[in-house]
Amino acid sequence: MRMKVGIIGSGIGALATAIELRKLGLEVSVFEANDQIGGKIVEERLEGFRFDMGPSVFTEPELLLDLLKGLDQNVIFEYHLLDESCRYFFNDGSQIKMPTQKERVGNTLVNELNENRSAVTGYLNRVEKNYRAIYPVFIKISLHRWRHLISKPLLSALGRLFKYGLHQTMHQQNKRYFVNPKTIQIFDRLATYNGSSPYAAPAMLNIISQLEFNLGPALPKGGMAQITKRAHELAAAHGVRFYTNERVTSIQHRNQRVVGLQTLKNSYTFDIVVSNMDIHYTYEKLLPHLKAPRRLLKQEKSSSAVVFYWGINKCFDQLGVHNIFFAENYKEEFKAIFETKTLFDDPTIYVHISSKVETTDAPEGKENWFVMVNAPIDVGQDWDSEIQLLRKRIVHKLSKALHTQIEPLIELEQINEPRLIDAKYSGKQGSIYGNASNNKFAAFLRHPNFSKQLKGLYFAGVTVHPGGGIPLAINSAKIVARCVKEDYPGL
Ligand SMILES: Cc1cc2nc3c(=O)[nH]c(=O)nc-3n(C[C@H](O)[C@H](O)[C@H](O)COP(=O)(O)OP(=O)(O)OC[C@H]3O[C@@H](n4cnc5c(N)ncnc54)[C@H](O)[C@@H]3O)c2cc1C
Repeated sequence: MRMKVGIIGSGIGALATAIELRKLGLEVSVFEANDQIGGKIVEERLEGFRFDMGPSVFTEPELLLDLLKGLDQNVIFEYHLLDESCRYFFNDGSQIKMPTQKERVGNTLVNELNENRSAVTGYLNRVEKNYRAIYPVFIKISLHRWRHLISKPLLSALGRLFKYGLHQTMHQQNKRYFVNPKTIQIFDRLATYNGSSPYAAPAMLNIISQLEFNLGPALPKGGMAQITKRAHELAAAHGVRFYTNERVTSIQHRNQRVVGLQTLKNSYTFDIVVSNMDIHYTYEKLLPHLKAPRRLLKQEKSSSAVVFYWGINKCFDQLGVHNIFFAENYKEEFKAIFETKTLFDDPTIYVHISSKVETTDAPEGKENWFVMVNAPIDVGQDWDSEIQLLRKRIVHKLSKALHTQIEPLIELEQINEPRLIDAKYSGKQGSIYGNASNNKFAAFLRHPNFSKQLKGLYFAGVTVHPGGGIPLAINSAKIVARCVKEDYPGL
C-alpha cells in the first residue's frame, strides 16, 4: 500500500513538497485554511486591475522549471527576464536605473556612483564565487544530517571560509568595498529579501547580490500567481488531493510517530505529515503538548509589511517594474522596524508595477501599483492610526519624487498589514519569513526540515531551513523529499 502524506498549507513550499513526494509515488493530500490555493502567492482582480498580493521579486526561475518537470505532464510556465533589476530614487532627487548582469552593473556603479572599478569587480566576483560555494552546502541540503553535510562541496565551501566575512555584518562588508553611501544603501537593501536588517545580518547574506544584480530578477508571464497556479495544476493532474477552507487544528501522534491530522471538518489518517504553516504556530497551535525547540523559536522575528494596492489613473515613464524610494537615514529605519517596532517617519517605499510588462494587468493608460513598506511585527501597535499616517507620508514622498500629486490618481485601494498577514496566512505576529537572520549564527538557528521528536513529521516553507524567499521554499521541499527517502528506504 502506498504511504499517505498530509500537507498543512498550500504555499509554494507545500506545493513543491506535494510534487516532489508524488514523484516518489506517495499519496498526497493538501489542506489549506483559505479558499485559495497558493499561500501568499495569490492574485486579486479588481475593476480591471490585477494585483499579486504577496511576492513580486522572482529569482532562480530554473528551480521552478525543474520542479515542474519530471512528472509526466506538460505544464507551461514562462517568464520575462528583466533588463533592469530596480530603479532607485533618493531624497536628494537623484535616480539610478540598475541594469542586470555583472558587467553592466559594474559600469553603472563606476559611471553613475563613482565607485572604484576594481573594488566593484572584486565585490561582484566574490559574491558569485561565494554563492556557488555556499549554495550546495547551506541551501540545497539539510544542515541537520551528517550524511547531507559530508560531501566534496562542503570542503570547497570551507576552503572559502575566510571570504564570507564571518565576523562582519552585510553593511560592514559593503562599506569596506564601496565609497558612495548610495551604493552601500543599494547593496544593504538586500537584507530585506529575507526580512532582516543589514546592520545585523551576517555578510554571508551578501550572496543575494548574485541573484539581484549578477543574474537579475524574472517576472512570470501572467504574473507571480502563475508560480503557484502552475504548481497546483501539475500536482492536481497527478492525483494530489486539495482541500480548501479546511484548517488543520492538530497533528495527531502516538508512540513518537505521527498518525494523522485533525481539521475543523474531519480527521484523517496519515503516515507522513508535512507542515507548511509558520513553524512557531505549528508548535503552538498544532502540537501544544510537544516540547518546542525554544532556542530556535525565540529568535528575533523577521519583519512584516504594510502594502497598499493602488489602481493608478496614469502611466509614469519614470518608473519601472521594481522601484525603491529610499529613506534618508536607513540605519534609523531598521532601528524602528526591529527595536522600537514603529513605522519610520521617512520610510523606504517599494513600488512594484507588473503592468509595465504585463500590459493587461491594468486598463489602458493606468497602472497597478503594489506599494510596500517594511514594517515591524505586530506587538499591539495602534495599526489603524499608524497606517493612516504612513499612507499620508507615502503619498507625500511619492508625489514629491515624481513631481505629480498622487492622491487624486488613486482610483482604488486595498491594504495588507501585519495583523492581516497573521490572520490570513498564519505568519506569527505578521512576520513574513519566520526568524530574521539578524545574527551570525542565523543559518544554524532555523528549524530543521524534519522533527527530531516525531517520526513522520517534516517541515517546508520559508520559516524553516534554508530560509526566506520562493527559491528557498522550493529547496526546503527538495530537502524534505530527500529526508523522506532516507527515512523510508523501502519506498
Ligand atoms: C507582502 C509580501 C511580499 C513578499 N515579497 C516576496 C518577494 O518579493 N519574493 C519572495 O521570494 N518572497 C516574498 N515574500 C515572502 C513569500 O510570501 C514567501 O517567499 C513564499 O510565498 C512563502 O511560501 P511558503 O511555502 O513558506 O508558505 P506561505 O505562502 O506562507 O503559505 C502558507 C499557507 O499555509 C496555510 N496555513 C497555515 N496554517 C494552516 C492550517 N492550520 N491549516 C491549513 N492551512 C494553513 C496558510 O493559509 C497559507 O496559505 C513576500 C511576502 C509578503 C507577505
